[in-house]
Amino acid sequence: MQLYEMTMHEVKDLLKQNKASAREVLDSVMGRIEKVEEKVKSFVTITDDLAYDKADWCDREKEGGTIKGIPFALKDIICTKGIRTTCSSKMLENFVPVYDATVARLLNEQDGVLVGKLNMDEFAMGSSTEQSAFFPTHNPWDLNRVPGGSSGGSASAVAADEVFFTLGTDTGGSIRQPASFCGIVGIKPTYGRVSRWGVVAFASSLDQVGVFSKDVRDCAEVLNVICGKDPLDSTSVDVDVPDFTSFLDDNIKGMRIAYPKEYFGEGVDEDIKKAVKKALKHYESMGAIVEEVSLPHSEYALPAYYLIAPAEASANLARFDGVRYGFRDFEAENVVDMFSSTRAKGFGPEVKRRIMLGTYALSSGYYDAYYLKALKVRRLIYEDFARVFKNFDIIISPTTPTVAFKLGEQSDPLTLYMNDILTVPVNMAGLPGMSIPCGFKDGLPIGMQIIGKAFDEGTMLKAAYAFEQTTDYHKVKPALEVK
Ligand code: GLN
Repeated sequence: MQLYEMTMHEVKDLLKQNKASAREVLDSVMGRIEKVEEKVKSFVTITDDLAYDKADWCDREKEGGTIKGIPFALKDIICTKGIRTTCSSKMLENFVPVYDATVARLLNEQDGVLVGKLNMDEFAMGSSTEQSAFFPTHNPWDLNRVPGGSSGGSASAVAADEVFFTLGTDTGGSIRQPASFCGIVGIKPTYGRVSRWGVVAFASSLDQVGVFSKDVRDCAEVLNVICGKDPLDSTSVDVDVPDFTSFLDDNIKGMRIAYPKEYFGEGVDEDIKKAVKKALKHYESMGAIVEEVSLPHSEYALPAYYLIAPAEASANLARFDGVRYGFRDFEAENVVDMFSSTRAKGFGPEVKRRIMLGTYALSSGYYDAYYLKALKVRRLIYEDFARVFKNFDIIISPTTPTVAFKLGEQSDPLTLYMNDILTVPVNMAGLPGMSIPCGFKDGLPIGMQIIGKAFDEGTMLKAAYAFEQTTDYHKVKPALEVK
């Protein structure tokens, strides 16, 4: 087995026992990137010089942090000091931040080796990574298909064994949906669990940073590094951060699992429903109590999301005006034209669509009818979950209504929005959610979504781990024919 094929915890063991050096691990990863990147196109920027400096430092130092010498990469929405951070937008094509986002700093302080920045839908708006202003990313399981989005590069990089883990962001499903499409583990922690400081804002009340990894243990270990209150982010919450690996125990006897009937309804692929139902039976056979429940307001989550998220986006993206930083249209004749032509040229079509939708929803006369109404729906969705969580430990559903689709297949925005129908409610309620592999359809991965109580990622991880330890879906890798 090559080093790049291993999980992070396997490589950590080798490094600890001096059976491999950080440079050897990085060489293996860089060799892999060289072979597959041309096909998959996960990266916007590769920082090989910096990575080798860091790996050599790791080899010289005796002591070190918890992820010492482990190559990883970040979605290109996470600011990195001195390293271009583009949000896959022309607007930020040449933007080099002067500081690290808190999550980037934390990973760096624990001595991880950053190898690059990952492709995404422009400003995290999309479900396929086709909205990147630069190029689309390809799904390692079938290069004609999308990896999902918006954190598509973060998912494909892990699935293609280009790095051991990545970070992404999830506003309506952008970690769980690509994790599902690429057959890996993806977690969106509870809103407020991870600092958003230095992460370019899309919809601030929904955005959350999370992890993509090859297995559940790696996911828990990375969460241990990035979670916690940050004085720089007033929405991060001061609650205890447990050692998430302490939950990795496969005894789930008596665990109470709910499955919402609305998540197995029309529009969800029959084979996906079957795979998740089979997983529920598997949980039952391990001693869990599995029952059907109802989340009656589920159908309103998506329309409400497409008012709230664009409304917040329209406010957040107002800062890109050509004045302070980022792209400026120098051809404009006066300052007023400069504002509008900068935005006309700098933003892609989906971003413009969201800004217009959001500005409309917030404008006087429509605010009460649309935005305020959407906030009320959001509360009802929250209450649906709260009711179920009085009697259950976790909720299980499919992550996505379909498996990965072909590039160009979902060109209509509304069709694309439907991808998030099963993930959006979780963001609306601020809850933690994750996706783990639970089957295949025509050789393409199927993901199962596990939803937890607020700040109870531990129970979710435990359920995920128990399933993973007793099944083999996570061991199957994409063929990715390379010489
Ligand atoms: N696909 C959803 C959207 O386009 C979610 C994106 C996300 O989670 N960042 O808004």
